Amino acid sequence: MPALSPRLSGIQASPASILRRRARELRAAGRDVIELSSGNLDFATPDHVIAAAHAAALRGETRYTDVDGTPDMKQAVRAALLRDHRLTYEQDEIIVCNGSTQALFNALQATLAPDDEVIIPAPYWAPYLDQVRLNGGTPVIVPCPQNNGFKLRADDLRTAITPRTRWLIINNPVNPSGAIYSAEQLSEIAAVLLQHPDVWILADGLYEHMVFGGVAAPTFAAIEPRLRPRTLTVSGVAKSYAMMGWRVGYAAGPAALIAAMIKIQSQTTNSASSISQAAAIAALMGPQDLLSERATVLRGKRDRFAEIVNDCAGLSCEPPEGTFYLLVGCAGVLGKTSPDGKVIATDRDFAAYLLDHADLAVFAGDDFGLSPYIRITFANPAAIIEEAGRRLKRACEALR
Ligand code: PMP
Repeated sequence: MPALSPRLSGIQASPASILRRRARELRAAGRDVIELSSGNLDFATPDHVIAAAHAAALRGETRYTDVDGTPDMKQAVRAALLRDHRLTYEQDEIIVCNGSTQALFNALQATLAPDDEVIIPAPYWAPYLDQVRLNGGTPVIVPCPQNNGFKLRADDLRTAITPRTRWLIINNPVNPSGAIYSAEQLSEIAAVLLQHPDVWILADGLYEHMVFGGVAAPTFAAIEPRLRPRTLTVSGVAKSYAMMGWRVGYAAGPAALIAAMIKIQSQTTNSASSISQAAAIAALMGPQDLLSERATVLRGKRDRFAEIVNDCAGLSCEPPEGTFYLLVGCAGVLGKTSPDGKVIATDRDFAAYLLDHADLAVFAGDDFGLSPYIRITFANPAAIIEEAGRRLKRACEALR
């Protein structure tokens, strides 16, 4: 085969894509695999959102849109940022992308020079790392252990910053731990960043509305207006409105950075889907009660799954404040042996054991840069949660 680009050396396919394919293969082979790994929610995209997409298609909104999004969609993003965070942005400070994944990529591509460093608190969403590497940068991982609430401490940030630091990526609420930074905690981090004028802040708020305390998770630009000129606020409709497959995300930031991101997007994918943008406008501007209604449903599932987990030999978790993931500590199963004689030495071994012996697909904490944990998605129907719980308990009991 002709050679691939050296750019790909050290780059992995995303853990999510690998596990999704493996679960599909096992299912095709007749196995009844339950995917507790998915970043999908079991909610439907709301009817009024689907209706808006249908109406837009019938109206003929089927052409390319402006690269940076339709004027109406950008207006909707501005209105949502104002409503949810009291943040004011102009039209030229917004870009609409094919998912927030693309917003992140555009931003890194627009700013990184070879060997620039990007600080990523662990546990992290894995694509941050390889997106940095694909754009020539070096990820600098700062471990945020459970006794720090899985959150970055200001002191640890201060130590990690070097003259080559170009970005801090801060995800609130955090995938995979479900931790939420309070306004005070963000202010402490901001105090450090104010001393370092060459560092950008990427505030990924994709799960901002998936919170169990009632209010949207705070976002950086709103907490520290002095950092707003170098903060990129990223979010999207994927999780809040159960629109994972519609592929609409967005970013708000200084016009010069947004213009650079638009230039890159114009040469790569062009605009997000016209139909999906029409749907996203309906999601952002339509009734918002569904956010708290759905959070209440998720909260019940969280509590039930946490109860199941804490009843499994060797596992433990704290119910998270947000997202729809449980980060489950599995130190108690390490060193044990499976019925077919394999020693469970790592969280990756445990995840492989659950897939092979219990037909449960979960991520290893290692996929998120912090061990020993597994990540479980609890946005599943009640019957699935109960069945998954039975399998998990049996699998843990079978270890010796
Ligand atoms: N950020 C985080 C923390 C995520 O978990 C995800 C998706 N799981 C994304 C960004 C990207 O989401 P999307 O491209 O669907 O907007």
